[in-house]
Amino acid sequence: MGGTSSKSHKSSLAILERKLTESEEDTLTDFAITGYEKCKLKLSDSEIKEHQEEIISKVRRLCDKLGELYPVFAVGDILPNGSYFNGSKIIYPDECDLLLVFKHISVGNDVYIKSDLNNRVNVKIYNKSLKKQIKEITPLLSLGGIVGKYKLTYHIKYLLQSAIHTCLSQLEGIHYVGKRRLGLTSSEWDCLNRLRLLHQEGSTSLYKDIIESYKIPDKLKDRCRNGTYDPNLSPDTVELDKLIHGPCVRIRLGGGKYTTDIDLGFCIEDGRHLILPYNDGDTFMNDETQWTQSVYNSKHKLDKQHNKLLMLLKLLILECHLVPDSSTYSSHALKTLVLHHQAKCSSSERSLGGCLCIVAHHVFEFYEMKEEDQYLWIYDSEKKLSDVDFPGAADVQTGRAFGRRTENYWIMPVVLYVVIRALRSGCCTGEEALNVDRWLIISELWKNKEKSGFVKEYSRKCKIQSQKIDELITRFYSK
Ligand SMILES: [Zn+2]
Repeated sequence: MGGTSSKSHKSSLAILERKLTESEEDTLTDFAITGYEKCKLKLSDSEIKEHQEEIISKVRRLCDKLGELYPVFAVGDILPNGSYFNGSKIIYPDECDLLLVFKHISVGNDVYIKSDLNNRVNVKIYNKSLKKQIKEITPLLSLGGIVGKYKLTYHIKYLLQSAIHTCLSQLEGIHYVGKRRLGLTSSEWDCLNRLRLLHQEGSTSLYKDIIESYKIPDKLKDRCRNGTYDPNLSPDTVELDKLIHGPCVRIRLGGGKYTTDIDLGFCIEDGRHLILPYNDGDTFMNDETQWTQSVYNSKHKLDKQHNKLLMLLKLLILECHLVPDSSTYSSHALKTLVLHHQAKCSSSERSLGGCLCIVAHHVFEFYEMKEEDQYLWIYDSEKKLSDVDFPGAADVQTGRAFGRRTENYWIMPVVLYVVIRALRSGCCTGEEALNVDRWLIISELWKNKEKSGFVKEYSRKCKIQSQKIDELITRFYSK
């Protein structure tokens, strides 16, 4: 089999760009199908339905309380959204998104929406009574700056968080633990715990660095360190996250079977758009009067095969998400990437392995990766991945501050690169490649980050010795 030679240092991208052979495609497909089977939820359709209905009914009760205590924030429709409800959640059903549409704040009657060329909008209030009602709640919750002179600012999400706190404190039939920094979800903890076990074998300092980087209480950090952390809450126990997640207020709800983090996205309906209190911070001036437009039930949907591909990609970068400052693609960015691919995917390329290879290449292009002078170069390029629903809008790649990716941005593309190269080299089967713990690769790269040029970072670019990558592949993947 024509493997990737560990002696040829000009190889990698050149070899990856070579057309897939039939046997390479088979290995990639074997890998992709096995990976998909491994990461999909291990629940029957009826169990999923039951769990989702339970979540929605509990959130409905919470919203009813909200409407009772703060009539201006009464919620009409509760719209299921995101991975779990769209069938692309992996590992455990431990996270879900709900869009909560305001009943009494409506476009035309109370506010009007002014949008710019992208998905950012201003929400102007012209209903005086509405303005008065919001202002009346504000001092009560000791928050300022919710209502500008005419515009509603996105700080309303903090007001909603405080209101949810009050509602949870008063809601009967639940045990409300309070507002705190939530720890990892079950899926995240399973993943991190694998690294902890490697760490115990003395193979990495990465575990320590990850725990240190978390802004969670020391008590939780200690439990992560000694392996006794448990994300599960008893049934009907609720925690409110101190942090705001994008536009959302997050609660953690203990259930019969699964503890689930629920992102509550309060929004204003505007025809086919929903308006959420959030600014992605892409602009240099963080304008607090800018909100975000979103599309519910977008016409851009993934077919069955590409949904499997999306889930597999999520699995492949699960570890990267836990590495601090890694600018790893969000679920939305990955989906956008796959949607762009699907639009161009021809029937001849329709093996799951073939699609995986093409999409991985798109990622390499976004980082302008190349092999040159015996190094693999990864650039913090400014290439934009545009939202399919808002083609003119901001980039969906996350983790950028002032247009730049954070320090460890190279982790995700390099992990994908190593996996694809190992698979194409023919040194292992798809299943064997899947069983290689990606933490081993990340730990090695991390450990040698500043040592003898193994991974070297400059402004907006990073290089890794090709020889080291070849060594990693030989060491972990060759049988
Ligand atoms: Zn495809």
